[in-house]
Amino acid sequence: MTQTCTTCPYCGVGCGVLAGPDGEIVGDPNHPSNFGKLCSKGSALGETIGLDGRLLRPRIQGVDATWNQALDLVADKFRAAIKEHGPDSVAFYASGQLLTEDYYVANKLMKGYIGAANIDTNSRLCMASSVAGHKRAFGTDTVPGIYADWEQADLVVLVGTNLAWCHPVLYQRLLAEKTRRPQMRVVVIDPRRTATCDIADLHIPVQSDGDVALFNRLLTHLVDVGCVDTEYVAAHVDGFAATLSAARRSSLEAIGVDPDRITEFFRLFARTENVVTVYSQGVNQSVCGTDKVNAILNCHLITGRIGRPGMGPFSVTGQPNAMGGREVGGLANMLACHLDIENPDHRAAVQDAWQSPTICSEPGLKAIDLFQACSEGKIKALWVMSTNPAVSVPDANRVADAIASVPFVVVSDILERTDTGDLAHVLLPAAGWGEKSGTVTNSERMISRQRPFLSAPGEARPDWEIIADVARRMGFDGFDYQNEAQIFREHAALSGLAKRFGRDFDISGLAGLTDLDYDLLQPVRWPVPQAGAHGGRFFADGAFFHDNGRAKMVPVEQPAPVVRSELTLNTGRIRDQWHTMTRTGRSARLSAHLAEPFVEIHPEDAMAHGLRDADLAEVATEHGNALLRVLISSNARKGSIFVPMHWTAQTCHAGRVNPLVAPATDPVSGQPASKDGAVSVKRA
Ligand code: SF4
Repeated sequence: MTQTCTTCPYCGVGCGVLAGPDGEIVGDPNHPSNFGKLCSKGSALGETIGLDGRLLRPRIQGVDATWNQALDLVADKFRAAIKEHGPDSVAFYASGQLLTEDYYVANKLMKGYIGAANIDTNSRLCMASSVAGHKRAFGTDTVPGIYADWEQADLVVLVGTNLAWCHPVLYQRLLAEKTRRPQMRVVVIDPRRTATCDIADLHIPVQSDGDVALFNRLLTHLVDVGCVDTEYVAAHVDGFAATLSAARRSSLEAIGVDPDRITEFFRLFARTENVVTVYSQGVNQSVCGTDKVNAILNCHLITGRIGRPGMGPFSVTGQPNAMGGREVGGLANMLACHLDIENPDHRAAVQDAWQSPTICSEPGLKAIDLFQACSEGKIKALWVMSTNPAVSVPDANRVADAIASVPFVVVSDILERTDTGDLAHVLLPAAGWGEKSGTVTNSERMISRQRPFLSAPGEARPDWEIIADVARRMGFDGFDYQNEAQIFREHAALSGLAKRFGRDFDISGLAGLTDLDYDLLQPVRWPVPQAGAHGGRFFADGAFFHDNGRAKMVPVEQPAPVVRSELTLNTGRIRDQWHTMTRTGRSARLSAHLAEPFVEIHPEDAMAHGLRDADLAEVATEHGNALLRVLISSNARKGSIFVPMHWTAQTCHAGRVNPLVAPATDPVSGQPASKDGAVSVKRA
């Protein structure tokens, strides 16, 4: 039987899968990130392939249209808005679901041809704080380590990450190693007792946003017990004194954790050389997310535990191609190839390579600001690609109203009905997973191919083709791509700028791939500075990417404690659903795991609010309300409720949680906070 080697479309683990012609899915035993393992979502991929609800041809105002009619209209409207109101009057909102080639073309069109940087993506909701923290500490957005480090570590610290549900194959790898080597220690730092705690030797139920204080005090402990690698710090790290001084101002009293647990964590961290600290949305989705990231990075820099086997900080991304998006500069504050919009030399070099008529000169609107600008009438044309912000962005009802107020909205998607698509003037049918071809990059910088094994239904087309077609119709040269291999080669060649500017992202060794080479490309980790290279860890040599070649410890202050009389709202994922359930919602098996939206609440909070198990509860904030099934569990942290984020107006209107979430953001990264809002709960 012929099988196609491709990559799972869900999380940032980036598992290789083998797809049979009828959609049978198994793990790819040769993929170096998952070695044949799959989780429940990945193994059910075959159950999610089908034409129910697919958008099969373009639509203008709800009426079927030809591609020519739709693309001409999109190009005309964007051109007219730019002519009348300037380049900043248009915006793209894209997605970590896009393939790198799609992302590259969208970013090039907006930044190099339209001349604005108003392209942001749902990756802003996922890991923008890690990007900002990396840049502050390392000088670039670099993930130093590789997955194998986790298996070589003697202590793995999991912060704000329910790995067992959200990155299950990495959890499986960790579980296998812990079973093989029981002396390995795992610490989970999370307000909730999640499924990940099943392998934890120690759980620290830190109060939301208590991570800065926790890691600041860990830093002072490491100093006090003599764990500073003074030679390493002297040779490679700036900012020690100021960072220590800030850390000493933090107090553990406010984080509400049994001091014995904290002492045990500090003791473990201090005595263990091989430590990997893994973090994801629980760290990133916060008004102090970037500071949390730097508080973690500071502890690794001060001990020199970075860049060597079995140690280092490790950000795991939520989406299959959040990393690829970062590489092409697919966020409003980034230029291609990890270069900086603010740097005139970087801008000139990218413009020169693109031979483009212009280049953006300043960062564009980040997600929350972008939708605010929509509501203020500043955005005249908006193109939403492969995502559903009317459900997924905080303050979702306001976001839906903001999108509805934009004079011209385009949505490219695989489905004919989504909450956002219902607001569009033009719907463009995109090819989906299994139908399109390109590359994705996972959390360990592994670039893998996604290959088609199904025909695109109806008139659906790859996103890069759609975007390039619009660009040409807007009168722009530079978009005559014949296939995705050509785009990849251009992207790879552009990354050669990394050498010139001393940056990390370099895959110029892949710029010479023929179409056949690209088709046959095996997973390869960047950097790939020459053909045949395969990247490993960064910073093994102690060389960082700030101008002086040194890393920076960043002084971070513990946020002022928020005293609330009400409960706090923590949102997140469940094991068997993905994002807004576009694909996973089609599998009866996956939907059976947790079939309806719920609110997880601590028994004492439930009693105080007169709630019993399986009651319906009204959960409300000043932004919106939801009706949710009560799930009483001592896994919840007292004072904090948890609500999953997957349900939409299409699947359960009353169960949507993002309308309740305030649009508060981290001032450095612009990432919204989704874990710590004030909320009231009562029996419905
Ligand atoms: Fe897909 Fe992530 Fe599961 Fe791997 S762990 S199969 S990438 S959802």
